[in-house]
Amino acid sequence: MPRRGSGRGMGKGMGRGQTTGIARGLGKGDGQGLGASGACICPKCGYRTTHAAGAPCIEQRCPSCGSVLLREGSAHHQKAQKVQASRQKKKES
Ligand SMILES: [Zn+2]
Repeated sequence: MPRRGSGRGMGKGMGRGQTTGIARGLGKGDGQGLGASGACICPKCGYRTTHAAGAPCIEQRCPSCGSVLLREGSAHHQKAQKVQASRQKKKES
């Protein structure tokens, strides 16, 4: 009788493939407030630009008023906002 097919064909093909643990691990950088992305903001005039990795906001200057930029949401920025708010209050009253 004729043999059809070959004896060994689909023995084990693609079994499971081993799962390596590499897939996870690169999540989103939640958790720490200041990650690699964000914005730099001018405390004086409110100019805002995207923060570039490797270029600290504080080393950049505002193109419109020349002030040093602050990282948006950083302690420096929050402090500057408070100072500015209190200044404006004084002016108004
Ligand atoms: Zn400015």
